[in-house]
Parts: sequence; structure tokens; C-alpha cells
Amino acid sequence: MQRLFVGILLTLLPLLTLAQTRWQQHVNYVMDVSLDVETHRVAGTQRLTYTNHSPDTLHRVFYHLYFNAFQPYSMMDERNHHLPDPDGRVGKRIRGLDSTEIGFQRIHSLTQNGAALSYEVAGTILEVELVEAIKPGEEVLFEMTFTSQVPKQIRRSGRDNKEGIDYSMTQWYPKMCAYDLEGWHADPYIGREFYGEWGDFDVTITIDSAYVIGGTGYLQNPQEIGHGYEREGQEVTRPSDGKLRWHFLAPNVHDFAWAADPDYVHEQVPVPDGPMLHFIYQADSVRDNWKKLQGYTVRLFELVNKHYGKYPYDQFTVIQGGDGGMEYPMSTLVTGRRSMGSLLGTTVHEVMHAWYYGVLGFNEANYPWMDEGFASYVEDLMIDSLLEKGAKNPHQGAYARYFRIIEKGWEEPSNTHGDHYTRNYAYSVGTYSKGTVFLRQLGYIIGDKALQTSLRRFFQEWAFRHPEPRDFKRVAEKVSGLELDWYFDYFINTTKVIDYGIKEVKAKRKAITITLENTGTMPMPVDLELTFKDGSKEILHIPLRIMRGAKPQEHEINGFTVLPDWNWVNPIYTLTIFRPGKKLKTVTLDASERLADVNPDNNHVDVAK
Ligand SMILES: [Zn+2]
Repeated sequence: MQRLFVGILLTLLPLLTLAQTRWQQHVNYVMDVSLDVETHRVAGTQRLTYTNHSPDTLHRVFYHLYFNAFQPYSMMDERNHHLPDPDGRVGKRIRGLDSTEIGFQRIHSLTQNGAALSYEVAGTILEVELVEAIKPGEEVLFEMTFTSQVPKQIRRSGRDNKEGIDYSMTQWYPKMCAYDLEGWHADPYIGREFYGEWGDFDVTITIDSAYVIGGTGYLQNPQEIGHGYEREGQEVTRPSDGKLRWHFLAPNVHDFAWAADPDYVHEQVPVPDGPMLHFIYQADSVRDNWKKLQGYTVRLFELVNKHYGKYPYDQFTVIQGGDGGMEYPMSTLVTGRRSMGSLLGTTVHEVMHAWYYGVLGFNEANYPWMDEGFASYVEDLMIDSLLEKGAKNPHQGAYARYFRIIEKGWEEPSNTHGDHYTRNYAYSVGTYSKGTVFLRQLGYIIGDKALQTSLRRFFQEWAFRHPEPRDFKRVAEKVSGLELDWYFDYFINTTKVIDYGIKEVKAKRKAITITLENTGTMPMPVDLELTFKDGSKEILHIPLRIMRGAKPQEHEINGFTVLPDWNWVNPIYTLTIFRPGKKLKTVTLDASERLADVNPDNNHVDVAK
């Protein structure tokens, strides 16, 4: 009986777990492509096994054809003609591309389980009518032949970047659009964000043997390739036709990127306890900095593994390429000719995406603030740690940028879809800067310890599951025991601002009475630091009633008193405390400088000299 019961439980267990797991589609790509370095064209085949885990019957599917963006009058081209502050890398350059310089992806054939499909190309999206609808739980095979022309590099991918890297091969293959709880995400490519389904990629790239390749995925035939991939002491045996077939496997990733250049050097540096780091760059002009970068990157992986969750792959590759810094699964492309500070800063940022884009897989288009905010927040902390700066606020730059855009009146809510900001400037502040401020300030609300625990737990619980803002909110709520809906609503969904001030302090012999006022448009809990003449300090903490609780004491040396909570509808709050025998010196609102208070002038009062 007992055994039977256990048996039933064991059978039910996966179902119970499944019920709590958000469904997601699954893709397996097998691609065999060859890149002709004379014509800059990629010709290949793609076998895509697609599993519909949704409860919906699908009648159509969509693919991204990103290279089509690099054609005159494409949406990316138009967008950059009309934005008030177009990306300097794009500007009006697409309009000037000739037929040999544009990018394109041409589909020659497409079948579903062997039956030919009809499809239409709409800019960067391939719209496909299915022969037979895909029912819930069904798996189908799409087979495609295609030819692409690698565009002259304008943005991210392309040939001959400004540092002379021949091929930055990102967004380079027809890629199935994501389908989730919110339906299809067939966003046209205008230069921004990405979102893809998880799956296994099996990619074979044939190219002239002089070229060195680095990218997503583990190389399966290092003894045929050489170029620094071969096992030490073993001979490389290459085919004699002057071409190399690079075979990569990338398990459980949501994109596949690579870069190729004949002048690359390739070096490997292990992180103790993994992963193996690969550095691929043109040694001529950048060797010293790239050598120094290796030590820093090893240390970075150690720190992040320890504090934010273990990087789950055995390999990560830093590649000189692209047009700035851009994250891809198991790899990043960064431009290489930079000062040491800039090379380190960019690499640390992109490596952080290995956690927040690579493994969590946010929908970067809908929630760019999560992707860029989380990466930028941890980047600041890691730079501070790697360079042993010990800054009081390593995120000062992010706060300053956030305050500046408010002054200009150009802020847009951080939950704006990445493509739809009115200004690039507002996108950049709303995602990188305000996303960073969002996290540091969350530490102010729930306590820094709870924030760090939340970040770790979020990574553990949501790895490979495309979490959304509410999923992070729930983790932070469970860790802290506090209600946080209001914080996400105000700070992410609106441009309301915080401004608390000290209106009056009356320090009599027996009683200290302080009146605070909220002159902003967003409520927050308040930390008030009192400093006494004897040098002692204490924090008075006033929670918001809607938090249904208060953070614990954060600093053990100083006193910490939780006062009655502030009912946010009232702009005024008055408190009276008794500290007999103590003489009050100063009162400071938010002494830890974590509150994004737009007007700090009313945050400090000198009571006695
Ligand atoms: Zn980023």
C-alpha cells in the first residue's frame, strides 16, 4: 500500500512540477552552411524541429530575417531617419548601401514535415502559412534552404567592421520567432532587442581554412581545425581542399553567434571550477590590454559564480568584433581597440549578460530594463570589486543619468517596449540607468541582504525559463516578506518621481519632534539618520503601510528603530522620540544615498553645532 502510494506520488511529481512551470516552446536547429569569403554569401540548409508546448493550436509561424534590415528604406533605415537622436553607427548609412553591400536572407525552399509551405517576406519577418496546424504537444520538422548576403557592417552584424574584423556573424540565420503566454513576438528588426526560444544548436560552418572562428557552442572537431582549439601535444590533421568544416554543438541556448577573421589569435584561459574562457582577437594593436583582460575575466567569473549563481556552461568566449559590445549565448562580441578601462567595463557588462540574457533569457524587447538593468547593476559592483575601489555608491553614474533626463523632461516609462521609445536617449536611461537604480533602491526598501539573496534565488529558480518582471517581484517578496507591487508599478510603469524632505526638527531637552513631507509623486519608505553630539548614530525607519512590514536592521553598529508606518495618502508625517541625555546634531534623510530622490536639498538638517 505504502509502496503503491509512493509509486503514484512519483508518477504525479513531474506533473505537479510541470503545473508550476510556465510552458515554453522548444527548438532544435541543425544548420549546415558555407561562407564564401569572395562573395560574402552564406548558403545553407536548416532543419528545425519545433515542439509546441503551448495549449494553443498554431496555424502560422514566423521567422526573423535580420539581414534584410540592412537595405535602403528598411524599417531600421527609416527609423534612423526619423529619430531625433539616431544611433551614430546607423545614421543614414543604410540608405547608401549598394547591391553588393546590402544584407539579405533569401529563402529558396521551406517545408513542414516534407510538405511545401507558402510564405511571404515582410521586411525582416518571414510569415509562414502552415499546411497543417501544429496542435498542442506536437513536434514538427521545418526544412529550409537559404542564401544570405552578409551586409557591410552597419549595426552589430556584418562584414569588415571598423577594426578590420572580416565577419561578425550575429543575427545571421533565419530564426524562429518566440511564442509565449502573450502570443507571437514577431517584432521587426529596427536595431534593438532580441528574444528567442531555447533549444539545441548543431551548426556546421564551412569556410576558407585561413579563417579562425569563435562563437556560441563547443567545437566538436578540434583536431581537424587547429587554430588553438586542438588538444595540447596532438597533431592537427586537416582536409586538403583548403576549406575547414567547423562543427559546433550548443546545448540549451536561445541564439547562436560567431565571428571569423584570418588574423585572429585564439587563447584559452581556464577559470578554476569552470568555465574555460576563450579570447579571440587581432593581436597586432591590442595585445597588452587583451592579455590583462584575461586575468580580470577569470576573477569576474569566480566572483559572479559565487555571489549570483553558477554559470552553467563549460565555455565562454570573448571575441573582438561587432560595433561596441553585444551579448550572445556563451559568447560576446566587443570592439577591441579601447583603453583598458573601457575594454574591461564593456567586457564585464557583456559577461554579466551571460547570466541575465544568456541563462534567464528575459524578453529583451518587452523588458529591456531587466536585461540591461540587471547586467549594469552587477557590472558596477563587479568593476568596483575587481578594481578594489570601495565606492560608497558604485552606481552613482546611473543615478546621475536618471536625474539628468528628468530635468530635461524626456523620461519615458521603463516598461516601454525597446523599439518604441521616442528617443534613443530615453531608452538608454530608462533601461541601463533606471534599471540599475531600480535594483539598488530595492535594496534600500527590503535591505541589501534580501536584495542579494533575491538576485541569487531568482537566478536559481528562473534559469532557462524566460522570467518576467512579476517573477522577480515575487522572488523579492518571498525573500523579504514585504509587498512590492507598488514599487514595480510606480518605478517601472510610470515616470513619477521621489522627493521626500525634512520640513522641521524640534529638539527639546526631552523630546525630538521631526516633521517630514512628501512633495514627490511616488511613495517610498524613509530612512532617517540621526547623529548625536557624542558621535553615536541611529536610523529611524518609516515603512509604507502598503509594504505590510519593514526591512530588518542593516548595519549592526548603529541603532535601528522601526516607527509606525506612513499611510502614503498623507503628505505629512510627524514623529516624536525620546532620547534623554543625548544632544541631536544632524538629521539626514537617506544617508545611504540609495533613494532616487530628485531633490536632495531638503534631505539634511544641522540641528546643533
Ligand atoms: Zn547590455
